[in-house]
Amino acid sequence: MDNSAFIALGSNLGNRYDNLTNAIKVLTNHSEINLVNSSSIYETDPVGYENQDLFLNMVIEIQTALSAMELLETCLKAELDLGRKREIRWGPRTIDLDILTYNQENIESEKLIVPHPRMLERAFVMIPFLEINHDSKFWAIDKPLEASLNELANKEGVRIWKRKNGEDVFEPIES
Ligand code: ATP
Ligand code: MG
Ligand code: MG
Repeated sequence: MDNSAFIALGSNLGNRYDNLTNAIKVLTNHSEINLVNSSSIYETDPVGYENQDLFLNMVIEIQTALSAMELLETCLKAELDLGRKREIRWGPRTIDLDILTYNQENIESEKLIVPHPRMLERAFVMIPFLEINHDSKFWAIDKPLEASLNELANKEGVRIWKRKNGEDVFEPIES
């Protein structure tokens, strides 16, 4: 399990909390993936396509023996197994699993771009990512990550929903 990766999870359809926890189970049931850390869960306003329900978002850190491409295939299969259908771009989804980082590699292939190309502009990714990533230096940019976070405009759209220690902040409301 030599490789370290961070994965962003998001859900705004069905039982969002179950979708997040089931996705973590599916990933970590894989014999070549170990869970290292997971962030708090945040409730977030939709970005990109705004006419949809609020999201739950979080970030996990894993160790894996899979290559980056194998990890992507595993994430895409887990999305399908959990009922993901791709309809509207950035639209409602049961679960989205995006690879944020894979070691300190820069990958640009047709199917996989790492670091995730939109992560730095998304408060719903950066807030949970910074909660569990303690390397404030990010190899892909030349300023501290906290500085990138400070510059983000949409931070108030990201609210703590369930703290890492398990304490509920808001009563879970599910459709
Ligand atoms: P966004 O990438 O802006 O968050 P999205 O997550 O809604 O949008 P998806 O429909 O989940 O987009 O993914 C579309 C494709 O993106 C996937 O089939 C995959 O091949 C590609 N992709 C490229 N880089 C990554 C990455 N780092 N993590 C996950 N998917 C990626
Ligand atoms: Mg995404
Ligand atoms: Mg995705």
